[in-house]
Amino acid sequence: MRKHIVAGNWKMNTTVAEGVELAKAVVEHSAQVPADVKLIIAPPFTHLYPVAEVVKGTAVGLSSQNCADKEKGAYTGEVAVNMLAGVGCEYVILGHSERREYYGETDAKLVEKVKLALAQGLSPIFCIGEKKEEREAGRHFEVVTEQVKNVLFELTPEQMANIIVAYEPVWAIGTGLTATAEQAQEIHAEIRKVLAEKFGELAEEISILYGGSCKPSNAKELFACPDIDGGLIGGAALKAEDFIGIAVSFLLISCYFKVCSFL
Ligand code: PEP
Repeated sequence: MRKHIVAGNWKMNTTVAEGVELAKAVVEHSAQVPADVKLIIAPPFTHLYPVAEVVKGTAVGLSSQNCADKEKGAYTGEVAVNMLAGVGCEYVILGHSERREYYGETDAKLVEKVKLALAQGLSPIFCIGEKKEEREAGRHFEVVTEQVKNVLFELTPEQMANIIVAYEPVWAIGTGLTATAEQAQEIHAEIRKVLAEKFGELAEEISILYGGSCKPSNAKELFACPDIDGGLIGGAALKAEDFIGIAVSFLLISCYFKVCSFL
């Protein structure tokens, strides 16, 4: 069975003190979340060390939001994957649309980052998604397929087994516009189909998360879709109740299916 995952991308928000409090609140409320749902939080770099102390020994995983495309050396301002692993990160978000758009991250650079992260034992949360104009032009399948092929097709099956994919339509990120469950499901199924072309049955094991204005009120409908294995959450991850509320959706879905099986 695929892993259910709810990951919070805090982006460039919170001070260190606020981040530590938020992490504590997530840990405290995480008991409400079904045991088969993995919670991950991705604070800014500066928060990783103190937040790692908070999540140590708990079920909450730690992710960074980016990493350098080089192993070490004279790259001022960059943070290497061994530094992230050393501080307790197990995951790294890569290819977020904000990195692609504002910092010119190309697929070629992402191949380097993904491979470096994997070599250091980190699981990349690899983001893909089309822009508004691409969806309006009916090119969303094509764009997402290209992003998958350009980066993930460069991996071996052993490497691919440690990847989490996040489908994040750019037009839905931070806009309040959410893809409908039908829109999200059809593209998640397509991503899995493309992965199967290269990786065969392994594609069934890969968790594919949805991201884009996901909140407690819409998570249930999205997560009930067969190819949606959880969410990458931005704004709603900044409030522990909302973040946990999203993850608790899995509990409500499983209760619903249990009740249906009795009818
Ligand atoms: C994100 O940036 O990964 C994201 C999903 O943001 P939001 O939930 O705020 O749309």
